[in-house]
Amino acid sequence: MSVTGEASGSIDGGSRAVDEVVDLVSKLIRFDTSNTGELATTKGERECAEWVAERLREVGYTTEYVESGAPGRGNVFARLQGADSGRGALLMHGHLDVVPAEASDWSVHPFSGAVRDGYVWGRGAIDMKDMCGMMLAVARQFKREGTVPPRDIVFAFLADEEAGGTWGSQWLADNRPDLFDGITEAVGEVGGFSLTVPRPDGTERRLYLVETAEKGLGWMRLRAKARAGHGSFLHEDNAVTILAEAVARLGRHTFPLVVSDSVAEFLAVVSEETGLTFDPDSPDIEGQLAKLGTISRIIGATLRDTANPTMLQAGYKANVIPQTAEAVIDCRVVPGRREAFEREVDDLIGPDVEREWITALDSYETTFDGDLVDAMNAAILAHDPQGRTVPYMLSGGTDAKAFARLGIRCFGFAPLRLPPELDFTALFHGVDERVPVDALEFGTQVLEHFLLNS
Ligand SMILES: [Zn+2]
Repeated sequence: MSVTGEASGSIDGGSRAVDEVVDLVSKLIRFDTSNTGELATTKGERECAEWVAERLREVGYTTEYVESGAPGRGNVFARLQGADSGRGALLMHGHLDVVPAEASDWSVHPFSGAVRDGYVWGRGAIDMKDMCGMMLAVARQFKREGTVPPRDIVFAFLADEEAGGTWGSQWLADNRPDLFDGITEAVGEVGGFSLTVPRPDGTERRLYLVETAEKGLGWMRLRAKARAGHGSFLHEDNAVTILAEAVARLGRHTFPLVVSDSVAEFLAVVSEETGLTFDPDSPDIEGQLAKLGTISRIIGATLRDTANPTMLQAGYKANVIPQTAEAVIDCRVVPGRREAFEREVDDLIGPDVEREWITALDSYETTFDGDLVDAMNAAILAHDPQGRTVPYMLSGGTDAKAFARLGIRCFGFAPLRLPPELDFTALFHGVDERVPVDALEFGTQVLEHFLLNS
């Protein structure tokens, strides 16, 4: 495994996946596919998707380019025929859009795709043009070499993940379910990266976190309506006061601890490897988790529902009491808790505040077992004998939510072996986002092994 200073040569039809992955990721980053959340200002997805389609076509794939509900929201699909097409197909998916980046904050230009100091730098380097590049590299190698995987593989490169998939995966699931016919399992982000933990005997273990669950994501609008009036009069029912009290109660509330199966299994493996103890019934479980370092930011957020007020709006003049006041709450709900969460919210906001979901995407959770999980384990062990896979729950959301609602079993597995000191979670949507060259080369080999045995 080499750490080269720069991307190798130009992309052509001849190189192996591991030889071209760095160049592919670097070139993907050079497409500015910033997703602002607004149709008018989001750009680059079409150009990037067309470039991906061309890389697939030049080695012999038939590709389908689909715009998901709005001009320029480009998605690309390609299928590789497997030995047994009667088995359910496997979907390998990645998104081509990225969150915006402020160039002046960065050490390198965020859309340079610079290869420097053993890293590929730029927006999307880990979220998730790394995985898109690895998928593309392996897909190209399989086609060039005439590889026939055990079952059909559908490669999908998608738009609009960073704004909830409204103009991407969610639209495709609603309007083009035919694209997913016969697919039983799916693999995408966020998982497969290593977390190095200390063992009691002084050695270290690399855990590879496989995403098997995601919290539900909901953006909720609260609205209080009362009597409008003059700001100088006595006025008991003020919409701003009613709303503010409800928002404060909700924002300060701690929802009950709920340890889902994925979280329990994660904590059990970490305890076994490190000797650290976690008591899920302890009121200080978050404090115990802090011993794990930065990953506790994600794990800690999967133990309870959260409801964070994010937007407030009311009034139009200092001496006019408005009739309405509104707030938006970012809600993240543990699997199985949706109804209980809504009841708890209703109790907190009281009868004078109404609520509605602006966006509500359900949670999902699957078990960490079966042939596909065995193939992940085997692929990691083949390339990192010190590795061990472990399931975990993501506190955020990905395109998997759209596919899970089609009945597809979803996992996050974009393998990267990372240096122990790298604060990986801080790089997501962060400044100086970058991915180690050798992690990409490792991940490409793991993916190849995985897809040959899945
Ligand atoms: Zn992502």
